[in-house]
Amino acid sequence: MIIDHFNRQIDYVRISITDRCNLRCKYCMPEDVPFVPHERILRYEEIVRIVKVLADLGISKVKVTGGEPLVRRECADLIQEIHEIDGIDMVTLTTNGVLLKEQLPALQEAGLDAINVSLDTLQRERYQEITGKDVFEQVMNGIKTAYESGIPMKINCVPVQGENIDELPAFFEWARQKNVAVRFIEMMPIGYGEIYKSYPVEEIRKEFFAHYPGAYLMDKKLGNGPAVYYSAPGFAGEIGMIGAVHEKFCSGCNRIRLTSEGFLKLCLYSGEGVDLRSMIRSGCTDEELAQTIGQAITRKPKEHHFGDHIDADTRKMSQIGG
Ligand code: SAM
Ligand code: SF4
Repeated sequence: MIIDHFNRQIDYVRISITDRCNLRCKYCMPEDVPFVPHERILRYEEIVRIVKVLADLGISKVKVTGGEPLVRRECADLIQEIHEIDGIDMVTLTTNGVLLKEQLPALQEAGLDAINVSLDTLQRERYQEITGKDVFEQVMNGIKTAYESGIPMKINCVPVQGENIDELPAFFEWARQKNVAVRFIEMMPIGYGEIYKSYPVEEIRKEFFAHYPGAYLMDKKLGNGPAVYYSAPGFAGEIGMIGAVHEKFCSGCNRIRLTSEGFLKLCLYSGEGVDLRSMIRSGCTDEELAQTIGQAITRKPKEHHFGDHIDADTRKMSQIGG
């Protein structure tokens, strides 16, 4: 078990397997974003080796993310390999859903435990406006297929004033009618997200309670993250809130991150971490990897300092994986 200096149990790693994507969300990856050359991206066997070391240290949950993880070839094979590692008891995926319908069977066969799909709007034209691509129907088909397959699924929406706030009631209704968790994640001042103003989840909570008078806070925890969940009488699903900026949850942080280049990040905000790719490619042993990772985790920052730029990472969200 890994316990850091602030008595937090670290049992979860988010792994970005590519910095590339088939969408161009305005706040994440505008058209002119430069990509990391292929040789600097971790190979699958390097990722698996790192996860084995992490599992021995006490990490038991893995999220595969990106960029868009499903654009990297044989993503399902990687998921299967991670799933088979002793000590890993949950493997989940975060995707934009564009390739979900076609890849879902392979992902489920690989043992994928749950899926998060990002969706900021329920309107086709607006979807194209936000993501740069006219693939709303394709994404909705992916979501429908996943829903029908019964795999646990959460929908992640980043609310932005003036862009999709008018759709909150439609998102609420979705959770009323279907057994899905619809979650709202505050925009964080990371990468291109820095030019946006974060819409507080408190406002969404107020709107939810105003729409559904019997609404209540749920005491169950869903998944591995910091979301707080609400429901209301007659609801099949839940509404989740992740107040990353306005309702800081760093004291309960359970995670580390591995970028597609093999940099082990200790906090989403901070540049603090260790370059595992260099270690691996210069021939280190698993014991050395384990020792370095163990020591690094003791340096995990106490909390983020969004906005004040102290020790901030310069990586973009697409490189970190959210
Ligand atoms: N492509 C996949 C997807 O969209 O789900 C996985 C990677 S994406 C970087 C992961 C999540 O980060 C998405 O839900 C996206 O909306 C969110 N995201 C990107 N930039 C963000 C920011 N500045 N603040 C909050 N969330 C952000
Ligand atoms: Fe791609 Fe996800 Fe970033 Fe959108 S949020 S550009 S889908 S990585």
